[in-house]
Amino acid sequence: MSPIVTPPAKDRLRLAIQKSGRLSTDSLDLLNRCGIKVKAPKEKLLLHAENFPVDILFVRDDDIPQLVMDGVCDLGIVGENVLEETALERTSGGTHNPYVVDRRLDFGGCRLAVALPEERGYAGPADLAGLRIATSYPRLTKRWLQEKAIQAEVVLLTGSVEIAPRLGLADAICDLVATGSTLEANRLRAVETIFKSKATLIRCDRPLEAAKRHALDILLRRIDGVQLAAEAKYIMLHAPKSALAEIKKLLPGSENPTILPLAGDDSKVALHAVCQEAVFWETMESLKRAGASAILVLPIEKMMM
Ligand code: ATP
Ligand code: ZN
Repeated sequence: MSPIVTPPAKDRLRLAIQKSGRLSTDSLDLLNRCGIKVKAPKEKLLLHAENFPVDILFVRDDDIPQLVMDGVCDLGIVGENVLEETALERTSGGTHNPYVVDRRLDFGGCRLAVALPEERGYAGPADLAGLRIATSYPRLTKRWLQEKAIQAEVVLLTGSVEIAPRLGLADAICDLVATGSTLEANRLRAVETIFKSKATLIRCDRPLEAAKRHALDILLRRIDGVQLAAEAKYIMLHAPKSALAEIKKLLPGSENPTILPLAGDDSKVALHAVCQEAVFWETMESLKRAGASAILVLPIEKMMM
């Protein structure tokens, strides 16, 4: 059930995020890194950001797609797994799904996987025929089974899906997996990944008022800045002029480094560059072998291109 709330104000974006769960901390962190000050709520359902025209609605993640598609919220942060399951459910019920994905985010990564008791053999999807599969994602599971032309029974369980085989409620499960440790603890093994998911920022697909559109443009630019900076590093090093061409080639994802003279040494220069990709120890070792010295790799907090 969606909470009953009034429509959003004309000049403030309303964003729904998960109140308490795996996406909550990362969603709040993202907002904070975008310069939007919000604290995790204790009791309140709706919080006004102090320094940005956005109100945050704290809800269960399952309610977020519906709140956005129905226009109760302008924006939502939700896993693609929940989004796609809700969209399939609404489509089958004949309801329109008016939403757009504005950004795929760098957190909430997981996969929806079919898992079987460890001792059960598995050669391919055909081995699932005739089984009872317990899941909280019946529509995604059925869609995958249909694509593979497998006849199996799908039973809906809303919690603790992983214990269903032990309780004799099902032969297999289709559940979210991140590290696989929950499966292992329940003596299950994943045999098929049916859906890969990340958190996304979704928006209601109807025109926004000008003030909200403006705020959204700023928010999206800041999210891009945060996500770009997450992997990016600022690298500084000293390089012999003769080795400069080779050293530039070794820098991962960098364009146009800055070259500066070094006081008192004509044979060397200082090189500063933004690397868009992770800089590994191996890269630093290659740079050193190529003649670089005094190599510093610094994190970047924000970026605007
Ligand atoms: P709520 O009370 O809000 O309904 P929930 O128990 O349904 O919470 P969580 O377990 O907090 O949901 O997961 C929220 C989302 O986090 C998932 O739908 C998925 O997109 C993502 N996620 C990331 N890693 C995992 C994981 N290891 N297991 C389950 N979900 C994960
Ligand atoms: Zn949920």
